Amino acid sequence: MKKVLITGAAGFLGSHLCDRFLKEGMQVIAMDNLITGDMDNLEHLLGNENFRFVRYDVTNFVHVSGELDYILHFASPASPIDYLKIPIQTLKVGSLAIHNLLGLAKEKNARIIIASTSEVYGDPTVHPQPEDYWGNVNPVGPRGVYDEAKRFQEAMTMAYHRYHGLETRIVRIFNTYGPRMRLNDGRVLPAFIGQALRGEDLTVFGDGSQTRSFCFVDDLVEGIYRLLMSDYAEPVNIGNPDEITIREFADEIIKLTGTDQKVIYRDLPVDDPKQRRPDITLARKLLKWEPRIDRSEGLKRTYEYFKSLPEEKLYQTSHNTFENYARKK
Ligand code: UDP
Repeated sequence: MKKVLITGAAGFLGSHLCDRFLKEGMQVIAMDNLITGDMDNLEHLLGNENFRFVRYDVTNFVHVSGELDYILHFASPASPIDYLKIPIQTLKVGSLAIHNLLGLAKEKNARIIIASTSEVYGDPTVHPQPEDYWGNVNPVGPRGVYDEAKRFQEAMTMAYHRYHGLETRIVRIFNTYGPRMRLNDGRVLPAFIGQALRGEDLTVFGDGSQTRSFCFVDDLVEGIYRLLMSDYAEPVNIGNPDEITIREFADEIIKLTGTDQKVIYRDLPVDDPKQRRPDITLARKLLKWEPRIDRSEGLKRTYEYFKSLPEEKLYQTSHNTFENYARKK
């Protein structure tokens, strides 16, 4: 039986990856320090004999006994509001933790995949973004703590691959959504749906002309799985190229939820990328992968999930905390 270590396992993506690898018949060791993760995402797995949860901060030396076949490094705050609140931890999990996990992979002769991000392209001047675009990142801006940590993580991973011959994979993840996102994580989809459910107006930042391209989580997980099983060590974009402005997205959420609320406009956060869409030519060719679930279907499933949450989750934060988030230079 193959054994896999998943860091950030109690998070949105980590928990879906736990499900997938258990379904593939593997043993899963799930690690999370629960800074931004939520044990509710893993509760359904706690009785599974092939699943073990370890509460641990992987910025410290990581020990796993016995053999290990795969490591998936998905621990990191991942929403702009989170990495503004906890900038040092964001930098540490991108740097110290990756060093520990690459060391562990080398020790165990395990294959490792790291969660990178479309944020390595910063506010992109090339559109859509292919993997060979080097990006436009402000290293000292508020988002730099995430963007540069992830860029360092990629550099460190390639160094271990080239110097030690380690089997490494790098997935550059574009905006992803689905069940188990944190309702109060500040990202646009949970923000809008949370506002609609609470009967608040929807906060569009800036004039709403900035674009994003949203991928449903099941598609993303499939892409990650295929990449891990491939023999390709360079970074690969996984995301859905279906691009939309944030203003249009707000309208879709208003329609989806049937809310009577309106859109209100707030300051655009510093260094907010103006446009983002993955070029997935490489994933199509290499992995025979492309997204299958369109936004209307994905949004329906996500909305069902948010509606099923207990009332207190909806009010864990009473409103979007854009005041902290949208600090101007
Ligand atoms: N955004 C918004 N209202 C919100 C939260 C976010 O208009 O309540 C915008 C944000 O400024 C950005 C886009 O939605 O342009 C996506 O933001 P998110 O935080 O989801 O992720 P990002 O893609 O910026 O990392």
